[in-house]
Amino acid sequence: MESDFQNNQIVRHIYIHIPFCKKKCGYCSFYSENYSLAKVRAFWENLQKEIELFSQKFQIIPKTIYFGGGTPSLLSAKQIQAIISKFDLTEIEEITLECNPATLDESYIAALAETAVNRISLGVQSFLNAELENLGRLHNTQKVSNSFQLLRKHQFHNISLDLIYGLPNQTKGDVAFSLGKIINLQPEHISIYCLSLEEDVPLFPQKQFIPTDEKVAEFYHFIREKLMKNNFQQYEISNFSKKGFASKHNLAYWSDKSYLGFGPAAAGYFGKNKKKYRYQNLTNLQNWQTNDFAETNHEIDFILTGLRKTEGISLTEFKQKFKITFLDKYANILKKHRNYFTIENGYIKFQPSAYFISNEILMEFV
Ligand code: SF4
Repeated sequence: MESDFQNNQIVRHIYIHIPFCKKKCGYCSFYSENYSLAKVRAFWENLQKEIELFSQKFQIIPKTIYFGGGTPSLLSAKQIQAIISKFDLTEIEEITLECNPATLDESYIAALAETAVNRISLGVQSFLNAELENLGRLHNTQKVSNSFQLLRKHQFHNISLDLIYGLPNQTKGDVAFSLGKIINLQPEHISIYCLSLEEDVPLFPQKQFIPTDEKVAEFYHFIREKLMKNNFQQYEISNFSKKGFASKHNLAYWSDKSYLGFGPAAAGYFGKNKKKYRYQNLTNLQNWQTNDFAETNHEIDFILTGLRKTEGISLTEFKQKFKITFLDKYANILKKHRNYFTIENGYIKFQPSAYFISNEILMEFV
């Protein structure tokens, strides 16, 4: 293991977890703490140490940096730029900041436009105020529209909007309404999420009101078709973009690229050739660094992430990497689900009819 660390591998993708929120949303299981200046200070100190430590072990020359959370837009533009400037930016292509509309106003957006951030992911979730309130979001739909217009005004030309579907008591009409509003804003990218409620979240008692699996699957296919009719290309099971605006960072996750995660709860994946390692930082603001770098099953990781892409996985690349033929090794699974797979131009991929149930099929490879 240590020898892999010493090989000074080049890493081109960075995730930074900003673990603060103003208030916890009712459905959220992500790690975050109540925002305070003292906590941000402690976080900044530890983050710098973590970046320095990893910089001694890897050559970090990022093409993409992704600020996720939590609520990254709780940090000031100055703080965000200070983090960005810790890295060698000679090859940088994409820097994404997840923003909660509740935290945005014009002076913040104007300051953000002066940083190196060039992609915004805006947590819209719904265009129905009753749904937003039930989810415990701190913004209403008016705030979303205003934030979006201000981002445009300040020259952000690569904006992604999030939509959650499968909400308690939601109808197809509700989904169509929010989706229509989101499309009308004309973002470059849209990510869709199916609501799932863990037992420890406040909204869990409403699980009984979530529409049936059949209904939620119908919502998924409705959203997908509507987006494609509106010139969005689907490049991953839950991600759609206008031509040329697929997220380079997220594509790295699904394309077997190494990445480092900084901050509490952040995850990393790295290694060369056949040996790949994963780590997941601890959810502790004082001391989140872990030394638990576990070797992964590279072949399974390659399949589970690669098949999420609509282009699928290259049979040639699989053979080169693992010295076996995918179609032979997994013949049983492919035979069982033959209606859900297709092979095209040397790639094996899911049929769209399999997208919504892809997780269940993927588990059979494990
Ligand atoms: S703002 Fe995001 S990370 Fe924070 S509680 Fe809400 S959903 Fe979770």
